[in-house]
Amino acid sequence: MGHGSLIMMAKKSKSDEVSAAQILAQLERLSRLSRGSSHSGGLNPAQWDALRYLGRCNRFSNSPMALTQYLGATKGTISQTVAALVKKAVVTKTVRTGNHRSVVLVLTDLGRQFLANDPLRPLEKSIENLSAKTKKRFARGVLELLEGERERQSQPPFGTCQACRFFRSAPDTCMKFEQALTSEDKALICVEQVER
Ligand code: SF4
Repeated sequence: MGHGSLIMMAKKSKSDEVSAAQILAQLERLSRLSRGSSHSGGLNPAQWDALRYLGRCNRFSNSPMALTQYLGATKGTISQTVAALVKKAVVTKTVRTGNHRSVVLVLTDLGRQFLANDPLRPLEKSIENLSAKTKKRFARGVLELLEGERERQSQPPFGTCQACRFFRSAPDTCMKFEQALTSEDKALICVEQVER
């Protein structure tokens, strides 16, 4: 290989390199764009965030306190967001059975219809359309970053039962809440999940 080719290779590999700062800027922009698209259906981005959480969390995690933890927001912001969602009839707010000090937030049928038309669907579709290899690497990279950031900020994992210390199988049971778990429970995220 001639000297000129080596220089060209070196230049190419240098120009192909993507710096951490560039990746961060792209992630930030993607996040801003997706947040911007979440002014939709009469809801603001914070209200969409709360609606999505309630569509993903299990029946032990549908409280304003868990929502506050998941979104890393202040109590006041969450209480305003919940009040707006209740007023728009997409969420109901009731007292938890057997614990009058705990509040339960549940999506209404209208709330589920909203989620079916989530303004982030096009982005989800774009992720679906990535090649299998890119998707796998992207998922691994995003998870690694998220885990690191979550640990730095001492945030709970909000994982699912299969990877939880409190999970026992045959029959599927939660030792934390001392309750039998359905397959729907196991597929949803939990505020009390502790990784094994
Ligand atoms: S097993 Fe863990 S993740 Fe599942 S409901 Fe119980 S505490 Fe939550």
